[in-house]
Amino acid sequence: MEFRLTSEQQLFKKAVREYCEKNVAPRSREIDEKEAGIPNDIIKGLADLGVFGCTIPEEYGGCALRGEEMQYANIAIQELGRAELSMSLPVYMLLTVGWGGEFISYYGTKEAKQEILPKLASGEWSWGIAVTEPGGGSDVAAIKTVATKRGNKYVLNGEKAYISQVAECQARGGGHCTLVVSDPSKGQRGGMTMLAVMPNQVKGVGSTTYKDMGRMGLSTGGFTYKNTEIDAKYLLGQEGKGFYSCMEGFNVARAVVSAACLGAAERCLEIAADYAKQRMAFGRPISKYQGISFELAEDFAKLDMLKLQLQKGSWMIDKFYSEPGSFTQKDINIVISQCKWMSPLLALDVTKHAMMVLGGFGYTKQGPLEMAMRGIMSYVVGAEGAANVMKIIIARDVFGPEFVLERAD
Ligand SMILES: Cc1cc2nc3c(=O)[nH]c(=O)nc-3n(C[C@H](O)[C@H](O)[C@H](O)COP(=O)(O)OP(=O)(O)OC[C@H]3O[C@@H](n4cnc5c(N)ncnc54)[C@H](O)[C@@H]3O)c2cc1C
Repeated sequence: MEFRLTSEQQLFKKAVREYCEKNVAPRSREIDEKEAGIPNDIIKGLADLGVFGCTIPEEYGGCALRGEEMQYANIAIQELGRAELSMSLPVYMLLTVGWGGEFISYYGTKEAKQEILPKLASGEWSWGIAVTEPGGGSDVAAIKTVATKRGNKYVLNGEKAYISQVAECQARGGGHCTLVVSDPSKGQRGGMTMLAVMPNQVKGVGSTTYKDMGRMGLSTGGFTYKNTEIDAKYLLGQEGKGFYSCMEGFNVARAVVSAACLGAAERCLEIAADYAKQRMAFGRPISKYQGISFELAEDFAKLDMLKLQLQKGSWMIDKFYSEPGSFTQKDINIVISQCKWMSPLLALDVTKHAMMVLGGFGYTKQGPLEMAMRGIMSYVVGAEGAANVMKIIIARDVFGPEFVLERAD
């Protein structure tokens, strides 16, 4: 058993940290305040370091190390989470390496991989995932967007809501994976399909954007498909099996979300500890008061345990893809759902504690904590699945079929 990063992983971590400290952290307020405003030079700089290519094989322009893709993704995104506390850049990366690199590398046709993956690795295109609909977020099986097969095309009609990177994929190019109903008579067990959609390349895709409370550097909004024709070369995985591949994709995305929250929380904890060492009250630095030090110690311990669980989950996902049969989807669900349930809530707690340590100053826009709180909240309310949904998965996969949530309709 080995708990340390390999020497190559350590070098990668060091390179991403140095880049982020110099180029990202000083501009995080700028990123948070400008809508859809992640600067191109930062995306290019991170792409040059191999951050967006870490789940993409070399033949498609990436630098993935077979069997270590998720471990590298987690290293990078923890650094991005530390540096860019508004969480816009971590989400950009999550979508690019998760639903872009990892999902398309595994499920895309050769043509789709050749077209899409090099543009994601280089940072030219952005990518996303469109599952949620106005009538279905947690209840994925309730989606209504339909795909009718006509010749070698799928014709899409429906609406997706609360989708990240709506504006970016239109401005920069790129697209999203979408989950659609391809056979309404079969439901989730054989009637759902995943497709890649590039809105700039097809007709009939409309969009709206929302005004969020945080994470402003990355847009969210909705898509409508009106007789949108998607070539069958953009089928991701098997027709009818989309629900299951989508759930696999969620595990990858949830691991990366957890890593982003972990990175942000560790940074907030450092800010609190540094402040506590120098802030005097009642004649001593406040770090000497156990009311302060115990809370910070507890936060550290919880984050440290979460880190280990996340490392294990990422390693399991890498094994799942590189050594078929090594782990089941269920094994991974159990570990990753724990991480995605706990990490946003813990990160929010740590940020709140840090804010309290900083007193009045913590509440101002002079410091980054309020920005972190708004950004982390996006993961708490639901991005990549709400906390209650993670518990539904854990109960079902640990305790058995008696705990499966049956649909009421
Ligand atoms: C910032 C942000 C970005 C997002 N980006 C994307 C994206 O890129 N692509 C995408 O497809 N989606 C995206 N989403 C949507 C996200 O996946 C959904 O918000 C999430 O799945 C929850 O769905 P909902 O909002 O419809 O809430 P609902 O499903 O309506 O749930 C509402 C509340 O009820 C609870 N609940 C639901 N069912 C149960 C149950 N059985 N037992 C107990 N409690 C339950 C939930 O936990 C939640 O608290 C994003 C969301 C946010 C906030």
